[in-house]
Amino acid sequence: LACLETLGIHSLKQGDTFYSVLTGNTREMGQGHSFSAHSPIDGSGLSQFNNATPEQLSSVVGELQDAFKSLRTIPAPRRGELVRRIGEEARKYKEELAQVISLEAGKILPEALGEVQEWIDVCDYAVGQSRMLHGLSIVSERPGHRMMEQWQPLGPVAVITAFNFPMAVWSWNAMLGLVCGDPILLKPSEKAPLCALAMYQIAQNVIAEMPDIPKASVSVMIGDRDLGEAIASNPAFPLVSATGSTAMGKAVAQTVAARLGRSLLELGGNNAMIVSPTADLDLALRAIVFSAAGTAGQRCTTLRRLITHESVVDGLVERLVKSYASLSIGHPMEEGNLVGPLIDETSFGRMQAALNAAKEQGGEVVYGGERVIANVPAGGFYVKPAIVRIAHDAEIVQEETFAPILYVLTYTDFDEAIEIQNNVPQGLSSAVFTESMREAELFMSPAGSDCGIANVNIGTSGAEIGGAFGGEKETGGGRESGSDAWRNYMRRTTNTVNYGGDLPLAQGIVFE
Ligand code: NAD
Repeated sequence: LACLETLGIHSLKQGDTFYSVLTGNTREMGQGHSFSAHSPIDGSGLSQFNNATPEQLSSVVGELQDAFKSLRTIPAPRRGELVRRIGEEARKYKEELAQVISLEAGKILPEALGEVQEWIDVCDYAVGQSRMLHGLSIVSERPGHRMMEQWQPLGPVAVITAFNFPMAVWSWNAMLGLVCGDPILLKPSEKAPLCALAMYQIAQNVIAEMPDIPKASVSVMIGDRDLGEAIASNPAFPLVSATGSTAMGKAVAQTVAARLGRSLLELGGNNAMIVSPTADLDLALRAIVFSAAGTAGQRCTTLRRLITHESVVDGLVERLVKSYASLSIGHPMEEGNLVGPLIDETSFGRMQAALNAAKEQGGEVVYGGERVIANVPAGGFYVKPAIVRIAHDAEIVQEETFAPILYVLTYTDFDEAIEIQNNVPQGLSSAVFTESMREAELFMSPAGSDCGIANVNIGTSGAEIGGAFGGEKETGGGRESGSDAWRNYMRRTTNTVNYGGDLPLAQGIVFE
């Protein structure tokens, strides 16, 4: 665990237990029950924490509110400078940060490095944005008047994250939120708390050299669902950004809505790819394997449904099976391995249950699904990614099982393919492989994919930070990262200024 030492995280503990409340000013042990986080690589204990409690949240909220009072008045380009330096610090420790991701989330190192790169990229993006928090000037209908729109800092933002992108998701929210003038409280997944401490440490290294930046601008509380619920119900957070399962999102959305706060939700996906008879199948094959088996099927954008034209399905499945059989499965930090472990035994159990349900519902497992024991670290749950041929309307196909199961479905005409693609509760990512301009355009048109992401001749996973990321329906409707997602972290004011000597009323109303 040399990476923890290099990053300085090893010092964030008392005895064997890490601090659970970190605000830059304060370090406290959690006052709730203790828990250990395990590495999915071999099931070994990695870290020990006590849950931070809802009571501890109250004092943190006070610190965040104080931090907001200063941060909101610091010019945005200076806040950009903070983020620029955080990006530099993350560059310096890219290897070590990636190792922490691999240890906690089980990602293969190249993907973990990619995740840190995403953080670095979003820093660069946010620095540019810090000089472009533009409003509008609007013509007034009244003589001697001027109107404008301004974007103002919003307040402390809470970020609740999932285990599978422990750094990228925080960085999408935090780097933009900081530039927008909002202190950020992270409540990470209980399965990846060290990643949170690593990011905290990187940011605090920078803040230590920028005395005008309030320390609590980057804060962390480690805790479970109870802490998440306390955060969601606390009116000190005008925005709660929550990433995770749809069940979690529904709970958070209702709690935040009950106090008329805003929530930004990034929830489960059930992503599909349509493979048309005209598709470049070599290209499609590579995209399918990376999207479906990469990250051991544990991306929100993982390809779960392959909607293949009946004329090409048999040949494609045959090639897929060959490709799957050549995937090297094993220790995520060993070079050459492409598929690491599932996060834990529960996840393995869910995968097996889904495969059994698929069989009961008429599906045929044509490849994989079983646990891999040979040549992998004992104690980890490694699986052969599965390929299942099944009817598109089987119940299990409607669900997101967070494991590598690819359901192969068939279609006869393209409109039917789009209908199958849209006919699930989730709406995150989608793709079509086609050489037909008409099919590609139809897929992206109002009558096409109903997802937040609709790709042509690219797989469903691996989005770039420049676009707005997120999805519709049960995926929650949120958009993060690029495009105009920065507006989530600001409030809009409309200002009307009267520089004339009269007081004309709008809509020509006379009131005298
Ligand atoms: P999860 O829902 O179990 O946990 C996510 C986070 O929510 C954790 O921090 C957890 O403590 C917290 N939480 C759980 N219940 C809560 C509640 N009632 N109130 C407040 N907080 C609560 O998810 P997971 O297993 O860590 O992650 C996998 C899921 O996340 C998948 O469904 C995946 O698709 C989704 N995901 C979505 C995106 C996206 O951008 N759309 C990105 C990554 C992961």
